[in-house]
Amino acid sequence: MRFLSNWLRPFSGAEPNYWEGYPESRLKDVILFLTDRCNMRCDHCMFWERIDDPGDEMTREQLGRLASTTPSLRTVAMTGGEPFLRNDVADIVENFFRDNQTHNVQVNTNGLLMERMRALVESDLAAKYQKFLSFQVSIDGLAETHDRVRRLPGSFTKITRNLKELVKLAEQHPYFRVVVLTNVNKGNYHEIDPLARILWDEVGVQHAYDLVRGASFSAWGIPEDVYQPDDPRDCGLPPREELDGIVETIRSINRREGGHFDQFVEQLQIQTDLYLGKPTPFKCLSAGRTIGVIYSDGSVAACEFTTPFAHLRDYDYDLGRLWASPEAEARRARITGCVCTHTCFVLTSLQEMQERKAAAAAV
Ligand code: SF4
Ligand code: SF4
Repeated sequence: MRFLSNWLRPFSGAEPNYWEGYPESRLKDVILFLTDRCNMRCDHCMFWERIDDPGDEMTREQLGRLASTTPSLRTVAMTGGEPFLRNDVADIVENFFRDNQTHNVQVNTNGLLMERMRALVESDLAAKYQKFLSFQVSIDGLAETHDRVRRLPGSFTKITRNLKELVKLAEQHPYFRVVVLTNVNKGNYHEIDPLARILWDEVGVQHAYDLVRGASFSAWGIPEDVYQPDDPRDCGLPPREELDGIVETIRSINRREGGHFDQFVEQLQIQTDLYLGKPTPFKCLSAGRTIGVIYSDGSVAACEFTTPFAHLRDYDYDLGRLWASPEAEARRARITGCVCTHTCFVLTSLQEMQERKAAAAAV
């Protein structure tokens, strides 16, 4: 997702409460599950029950209507499951670039399906519409660890080979970008630095980090009636006493490689502080307001830790109408007191905070 740089400012009690009376419910970013089907079975997957038993998927036509009815978006993060298992990803991406004017389409992928990834980049849709296409590819440890966590022998070798090709494609296609995301967990935290050296020195790819998440250990204060109890299949956090050291390691890697991911490092520090019981520096400003989650069957949630509150089929796949509905307003009112470490919501909330501070300062 595109986030503002330098968004993090010290937060003091003397500052106004930017959240109080916060009126913004204009969608800017969407997390869109294209499918629940997947060609992996990862230990850290939060959606493993759906991956093991995929349900209905929205059709290309329904997704096209979604793109054309939704107010123009900043980012659509297409995820799953493995999005490239659908054979119409390029059509869906074009729908969002052309009919929604989405600024950035990000595809979160496990990086296995090279032919389909290459075809999408070489379609040059991003350049055609002067928008941005990015792939976020997962690598979760050195070869042995990655293959074990992802339950697919040989996948590290295959994905790093594919990544080298994607890096070359990015050099040839200026509207395309590839980034690796490593999910830090109890099984790989001691491999962060050696993995960074492979990714940066040998593969030549930019890379960022997130901490493994699960509803039972990454969220607090969600009302019981809207709590979505999704946890990893078989994975957990590194020991809590290691978390500050892990952030420090990632901070020094980021510095060594040119500081491209300062925001992610600061976000990791916020996540770590939450896990260590320190108070949150902000409230959730974005879930159900500026960002929403659309599951592959068309159900819609404010975030991944709360249950879906509506279904697109009841709104003729018009997300703009659904987002302005009494159902959406009622859900927004239910989730004013929770906190979590989910990257998308931490960063987008802080971005909202930054924008509101700038607006207040300009008056
Ligand atoms: S984490 Fe991603 S790649 Fe792994 S099983 Fe889940 S959806 Fe598939
Ligand atoms: S994203 Fe926001 S609303 Fe959802 S659980 Fe996290 S803090 Fe609560």
